[in-house]
Amino acid sequence: MSADCIFCSIVDGDIPARTVHETDDVLAFLDANPLAPGHTLVIPKAHAQHVGDLDDDLASDLFAAVTELTPRVQAAVDAEGANVGINDGEAAGQEVPHVHVHVIPRFEGDGGAPLHAVGG
Ligand code: 5GP
Repeated sequence: MSADCIFCSIVDGDIPARTVHETDDVLAFLDANPLAPGHTLVIPKAHAQHVGDLDDDLASDLFAAVTELTPRVQAAVDAEGANVGINDGEAAGQEVPHVHVHVIPRFEGDGGAPLHAVGG
């Protein structure tokens, strides 16, 4: 846990969030400012700012949650696809300094524009 980290506060239950999936090490919840219905963030519970800070086990658990959740999120909102990505570092558009994977449902005809900063 890191003081002043919004996502650590969500993990600790101090800030409410709509949880969609939880394991011992990983939490997934709905984005507060969704770019599409079902926009979900998947995070390691332990604080880490950058993907390179994750150890192999945690990286594996995080990716396992993403692979399980992505089709479920898509199905929940009847999406045809999803953008799945990480903004790693401020220069890449990372606003919250706690690793998070965006799962953003996409719909045929919704524009399909590539995103430079995922979710940013
Ligand atoms: P970033 O730009 O760091 O990749 O994305 C941060 C994401 O976190 C944004 O999509 C933003 O809407 C979301 N976010 C920021 N604060 C909160 C919060 O307190 N609760 C939830 N659920 N999402 C948040």
